[in-house]
Amino acid sequence: MPSSRPSRFRLAADVRPTDYDLHLHPDLAAGTFRGEVRIAVRLAKARTAITLHAADLAVTHAAVRVGDDEIPARATLQRADDTVTLQPKRPVPAGEATLALRFEGALSQHLRGLYAARSGDRRYAFTQCETADCRRILPCFDEPAFKARFRVAVTARDGDTVLSNAPVAREERLGEGLRRVHFEPTPPLSTYLLAIAVGPLEATAVRLCGDTPVRVWHVPGKGHLAAFGLEAGVESLRRLEEYFDLPYPYAKLDLVAVPDFEAGAMENAGAVFFRETLLLLDPATVAMQERKRAAEVIAHELAHMWYGDLVTMAWWDDLWLNEAFATWMAYRVVDAWKPEWRMWQGFEHDRASALALDALSSTHPIYAPVRSVAEATENFDLITYEKGAAVVRMIEHWLGPDAFRDGVRIYMRRHREGNAVAADLWRALAEASGRDVARVAQAWIAQPGFPLVTTRPARSAGPALAVRQERFFADPGVGAEKRRARWPLPLVVKLPGGRVERALVDGASATMPLPGRRAAWYFANAAAGGFYRVRHDADTCAALVQRLGEALTAVERLALVGDQWALVRADRAPVDSVLELADALGDEPDHDVLDGVAGALAVLDEQVVAPGSREQAALRGWVARRFGGAFEQLGWSAARDEPDDVRLRRAALLRLVGGIAEAPAVLAESRRRLEAYLADRRALEPNLAEPVVGLAARVGDEALHERYREVARAARTPQEQRRFLLSLAAFRAPGAVRGTIGLLLGPEVPTQDLAFVLMRLFQNPAGGDMAWRFVQRRWTALRKRIPPLMLSRLVEATPALREPRYAHEVRAFFTARPVPEAARALKQALERFRLNAELRRRTGRALARWLERVE
Ligand SMILES: [Zn+2]
Repeated sequence: MPSSRPSRFRLAADVRPTDYDLHLHPDLAAGTFRGEVRIAVRLAKARTAITLHAADLAVTHAAVRVGDDEIPARATLQRADDTVTLQPKRPVPAGEATLALRFEGALSQHLRGLYAARSGDRRYAFTQCETADCRRILPCFDEPAFKARFRVAVTARDGDTVLSNAPVAREERLGEGLRRVHFEPTPPLSTYLLAIAVGPLEATAVRLCGDTPVRVWHVPGKGHLAAFGLEAGVESLRRLEEYFDLPYPYAKLDLVAVPDFEAGAMENAGAVFFRETLLLLDPATVAMQERKRAAEVIAHELAHMWYGDLVTMAWWDDLWLNEAFATWMAYRVVDAWKPEWRMWQGFEHDRASALALDALSSTHPIYAPVRSVAEATENFDLITYEKGAAVVRMIEHWLGPDAFRDGVRIYMRRHREGNAVAADLWRALAEASGRDVARVAQAWIAQPGFPLVTTRPARSAGPALAVRQERFFADPGVGAEKRRARWPLPLVVKLPGGRVERALVDGASATMPLPGRRAAWYFANAAAGGFYRVRHDADTCAALVQRLGEALTAVERLALVGDQWALVRADRAPVDSVLELADALGDEPDHDVLDGVAGALAVLDEQVVAPGSREQAALRGWVARRFGGAFEQLGWSAARDEPDDVRLRRAALLRLVGGIAEAPAVLAESRRRLEAYLADRRALEPNLAEPVVGLAARVGDEALHERYREVARAARTPQEQRRFLLSLAAFRAPGAVRGTIGLLLGPEVPTQDLAFVLMRLFQNPAGGDMAWRFVQRRWTALRKRIPPLMLSRLVEATPALREPRYAHEVRAFFTARPVPEAARALKQALERFRLNAELRRRTGRALARWLERVE
C-alpha cells in the first residue's frame, strides 16, 4: 500500500501490454540485479516510438519484434518522467508486437521496488510495487489499467527460496550453485501487484482451503509463530469466497513475513507480504490487541484478492474505494469468525480518529481527481481507510446487508479480471437495492468533512425529533458560511425498549416523527453506525448520563464520550460536561469505553494543564482516585480462566492510573513486575506487557535502557522486539534519552520502525525537545532513510511537542525544506498546534475549578 515520488506522466492508451515474459537475476551479495523482459503488446495504430515506464534502471538492449522481423531499437530514458522511449529503426504497424529489453539496476535500500533486506546475517530481496515502483524492477506499463499476464523466472542461489505470484512450474539447474525457478503464468494483473521474494525462507505445512494451498513463509527458526496467521488466513479466505460467491482467483496463497517492510502488508496477488508483527505470533505471550490487529490485516489483504486484484480500479483516483472496501470487509470477516472479539466496537476507535482528522479545516474529501501517483500516495490516510470504511458501512446499514452483498456480487462478476470505477459499484448496488445509491454515496465522498447533527424533542402534536445539520469543525472560529454544507444523512435513532427509527434527512433541518409514546431518552446514532457527530439536547444528555449502562451499548457509550469530547474541543460544550461523563464512567465494565475516556483525559493531561503544575497534579490525582479502585479490585494477576474482557479491562485501567495519572505506587509496581517479566515472559498477563514495559521505562535508568536494547536485539517474537524497541523512546533519564537518539540512524532501529521511535520521543516530556533538535540536525540522513509515507506520519506527530514555539519552528523548518508528500500533513499539524493552544486558553481555568470541586 505505500508510495514514491514519481512523475505526472501518463502513458498513451493505444499501446497495451497483454503478456510479460520476465527473467530476473538478483545478486544479493553484490546488491544488484539484471534481467530481460519480453512484453507482448497490441498497438491500436502504427507507431514510430513506444514509451513505457522505467526508473533507476539502465536499459542495455532493446528491440521490437513484429512476426519474425526483429527491429533494433534505441532506448532513451527520461528521468523526470520515469519513462523509457523505444525508437525502432522502422515504424511498428498496428496489431501485435513484442518489446524485448535487457536491463540492470541496484537493489533498493529504501523498501521499494526490488529491495535489499536482512535478518541477522541473512540477505534477502523483496518487491514492493504499490503505488508505482514496479518500474524500478523492470521497464513496464506501470498503471493499474494495463493488466497483463506475467510469466516470471528468477535465477537464484541453490539455498535461496524464490516466491512469486504463481506456483513454481519447474526448476532448471544452471551449475555453479545457481538455478532458475520458472513460475506458471498469472491471470491478468496490474503491475503494482507483482511479487518476488528471494532468500533463505521456511514455510509451514500446506493447509487447504477448498482447492487452494495456503502457507506461511518466514525467516528460518520462526515456524512456531506461524500457526495463528495460517489459521486466520484460511478462516478469512473461506468467508470471503462465500461473501463474493466467487472462488479465490489465484492458484495458491503464500503469506510471507518480511523482516523489513514499510507498510503493514501488501496484497500482491497470490503472495501477500506482511510485517512480521502482523503474521508471526506467539500464542502464549501475545496480547489480544496484537492478535486482533493481525487478524484484521490478514483479512484486509485477502479481501483485496477480489476487491483490488481481481477487479482493479481503473486509475488511482479510486484507490480510496479499494482501501475503504477492504478495511470494512476485514472487520466484517473477523467479526464473523470471532464474534466475541466485538470487532465493530474496536472500529469505533478508528471512526473516532477519522472524525477528529476530518473536523480540521485542512482535511480533504474522500474522493479527489488524481493527476499523478504522488497525489494518490498522499491520500493514504485515515480519511481514505477509516472514513471510507465508515461510509461503506453506513451505506450497508442503509441498504441492508443482503441487498448490499448482492450488489457487490453483481459488480464482481461483471468486472472480474478487468478494471472498474466507483460508479460501477454504485450502479450494481442500485440494481440490487432499487435505491439511488450514487446520489448518497457521491455526497459523502465528494464533500470534505461531516455533519454535526443537533437534536431535541420537537414542539409538535405527537412525539418527534427536531433535527438540524451543519458541517462540523474542530475550530470554533470557522464562519457560518463554511458550515452550511449538507449531506443526505441516513439517521438511525435508538429509543427505549430496543426500538430503532430511521430517516434520510436531506435538508438543513427536519422533523422526524417518532411512533408511540414520548420517550424518556433517545440516542441519535444507534450502534454508532453513522459518520457524524451528535449534539443531544441538555435534558437528553442528562438522562443518558444517568442510565449509561441500561440505555446504551458499549459502542454507543464510546460514541457518546467521543461526541462530547469533540464538542468541548470545538467550544460547543463546557469542559465540565466531558469530565462529568468520565466521572460517571469510573466503574465502566468495558475496556473500549475506558480507552475512549483515557484518550480524552490524556489530551487534557498532555495539552491543557502545564507539565508539573498544581493543575496537573489535581487532574492526575482525580484520575487515580476515580479509576484506581477498579484497578485495585482486579489486581495485577489474572485467574487462569479469566475472560478476555476482564483482562483487557485491567490493561485499560492500568493505562489510566499508570499511563495518565502516573500514580507512584503503580509505577513502582510496574518496575518490579518488569523484572519478573524479563526473567520469565509468562510472569505477566500478556495484555499487561505493553503498558508495563512502557511504564517501567519512564522510571528506568541507563542500565535498564541498556537491558531493553539487549532484549530488542535478541527478541523471541516480533511483538517483543517492537515493544522493547519502541519503549526505548519512553525513558526519561537524560542519559537514556540521548542513548535512544544515538541509536536512531544505526542498524539497531530497522527502517520500518524509525519514524515510530521518533514519534514516541515527541510524546516524551523529557525527550521531545531533544528529538526535534535531532530531526533538524540530521534531516538529510533521515529524509533519505524514512519512506515517504512515514515522513508524513512524522510531521503529523509534531503537535505532541505542545509549546507554540515548536509550531513556529516546525513551520519554518518544513517551509525551508518542503516535503511534497507531507504537505497536507504539515497543514494539519499546524492547525492542531493552534487548536490545542486555544483549547488550553479556553478550558484551563474551568478545568481547574472543576478539579477543585472534586478534590
Ligand atoms: Zn489495503
